[in-house]
Amino acid sequence: MKVHNFSAGPSILPESVIQEAAKAVIELENTGLSLLEISHRSSYFINIIEKAKALTKELLNISEEYEVLFLQGGASLQFYMSALNFATAKGKSGYIDTGTWSSKAIKESEKMTQLQAAGETLIVASSKDKNYNYIPKNITINHPLDYLHFTSNNTIYGTQFHSFKNVTESIQDAASTYLICDMSSDIFSKKINVNDFDLIYAGAQKNLGPAGATLIIVRKDLFRKNPQNTNLNSRNHKHLPTYLNYSTHIEKESMFNTPPVFSIYVCMLTLKWLKKLGGISVIEERNKKKAEIIYSEIDRNSLFEGYTNKNDRSNMNATFILKKEELIDQFNKLCNDAQINGIHGHRSVGGYRASMYNALDVESVNTLVEVMKTLEKKA
Ligand code: PMP
Repeated sequence: MKVHNFSAGPSILPESVIQEAAKAVIELENTGLSLLEISHRSSYFINIIEKAKALTKELLNISEEYEVLFLQGGASLQFYMSALNFATAKGKSGYIDTGTWSSKAIKESEKMTQLQAAGETLIVASSKDKNYNYIPKNITINHPLDYLHFTSNNTIYGTQFHSFKNVTESIQDAASTYLICDMSSDIFSKKINVNDFDLIYAGAQKNLGPAGATLIIVRKDLFRKNPQNTNLNSRNHKHLPTYLNYSTHIEKESMFNTPPVFSIYVCMLTLKWLKKLGGISVIEERNKKKAEIIYSEIDRNSLFEGYTNKNDRSNMNATFILKKEELIDQFNKLCNDAQINGIHGHRSVGGYRASMYNALDVESVNTLVEVMKTLEKKA
């Protein structure tokens, strides 16, 4: 019986990708070698990483001004690394606080400014007052900023920026304020305009592949050896730790140190799968449909209630509660019996969270909805 994997991440991957990856672990495409034992300097791997980069650029329509990198350390390392590279000595760094992951990014920025004894971290908008169940609107920024950082999809709370207009329009001086986004849990799920951003980062383990790689899309002219006409001039990037300097990875094309070979290979396979499926516009429609199915049931079924503001509901992570506590064991059992896996909510929200990343079939969402209906009949 098929397991319906609603896990928040690491999460479901296309079955065909897992099968191909499994084969490559035994032998990579008639090379006589396992994927796990090839050199990252071999032509086999160079081909793989080049394909992964090319597919990323093609699917997201990324221009030549950007470099695509596959690094390690997860999105969590990017919290600090982005601050380290983009904050200037006397500048202010702006953050939109939409929950755990953006709060962690804010903490890292604060640590960075303390270490440098310079700069300042400002929270320019927050939804903390309602335990992050909405996306802040009317963002007003009263200070010039070095950069503005936000999280496009809040995996834990189940909120998502459905448009970036509020964010981009809040920036007073677009020429000197860089825009940074953590897209860990919705990259490749919908169309985006990469040109709006100076840095995008995402851990691989949701829509892209297994844990281990972090995708980074960065405007490369900002990190040339002697950047011109950019306020990054006031930082002496020479003294940054080598690994934590974007210039290093741009110059070495993700090969400064040994990249996560297995994870990058599987990312490449997932991107190939996505392209074959029809690309971002096709997956975006599918994701909308899955979200519509689950949210309509949450709204229709009187036993359940959505956690977030309706307009800000995430198409990736649907959070909801079961209103009658006495039915929890029964619901959990029904889910278990139907092979529904990974829908327990995060401890900071409670209730349930159905993560519906790209590889999750609509059939899995229908199965969950059937179980919700069965509970209603039995209750
Ligand atoms: N940002 C978001 C939005 C996330 O969902 C996660 C992980 N679930 C992270 C950052 C942290 O990512 P990592 O574990 O790759 O450091």
